[in-house]
Amino acid sequence: MSQRMPALFVGHGSPMSAIEDNEYTRKWEEVGRGLVRPKSILSVSAHWFTDGVRVSDDPHPRMVYDMYGFPEALYQVAYPAPGAPETARRAKDLIGGDVRIDDTWGLDHGTWSVLCRMFPKVDVPVFQLSVDRDATPEEHFRIGRAIGALRDEGVLVFGSGNVVHNLGRVGWGMTGGHPWAERFDAYIKERVVKGDHAGVLGYRAAGADAALSVPTTDHFDPLLHVLGASRPDDRLTVFNDTCTMGSLSMTCYLFEEQEAGSE
Ligand code: ZN
Repeated sequence: MSQRMPALFVGHGSPMSAIEDNEYTRKWEEVGRGLVRPKSILSVSAHWFTDGVRVSDDPHPRMVYDMYGFPEALYQVAYPAPGAPETARRAKDLIGGDVRIDDTWGLDHGTWSVLCRMFPKVDVPVFQLSVDRDATPEEHFRIGRAIGALRDEGVLVFGSGNVVHNLGRVGWGMTGGHPWAERFDAYIKERVVKGDHAGVLGYRAAGADAALSVPTTDHFDPLLHVLGASRPDDRLTVFNDTCTMGSLSMTCYLFEEQEAGSE
């Protein structure tokens, strides 16, 4: 396979998007239809937030229903994608250091709630890489750069989180975001669009807006992996770039190889 696969960050928001039809899921479906089928998907999910970096080489990853108090239908969602053991071990080698193989997890809702809409045929192997809770932004970016090499081997690098994620500040029924959420989402978007990675890594410079938008780093960090996996000559598409429920940003960033002669 000669075509470089994309690096994609998705703002996943509520797990209900696995079974609801809304403006975000319609866009996920549309984007999914436009992608070349990858050989496998490496998913960095906000919901596998661990001590150190872990990767799963399980040939049959199990479903992890890591959310509580939702309708029963959500717990019936199945995404029985096979794993990609060889590619998982290759990812471990590329990252280096003391990455651990860990098959105690599986596919959590950061992964399946989006992929069931984006790749509904469930015909692409998927494996997860964890987010190291103790790593610096620079370290997440470095890991992203290491796994970015897999893009040339048919692997879609997928990060699932939210640029703004503060469950304590959710405004139920709100359609947009609180002013600080909108500002921080725009602050990050401006820097991603400019290719100012240092500015994204230094997001704490946004002060109170950053503190409110990223109270814990789990949902923000997968963006840093995806930026690390991006290349200067990629074409960037930003979509679903709105906030919802006050304190969630749904913004997605798709980095793709430029096709010769396109646009
Ligand atoms: Zn989440």
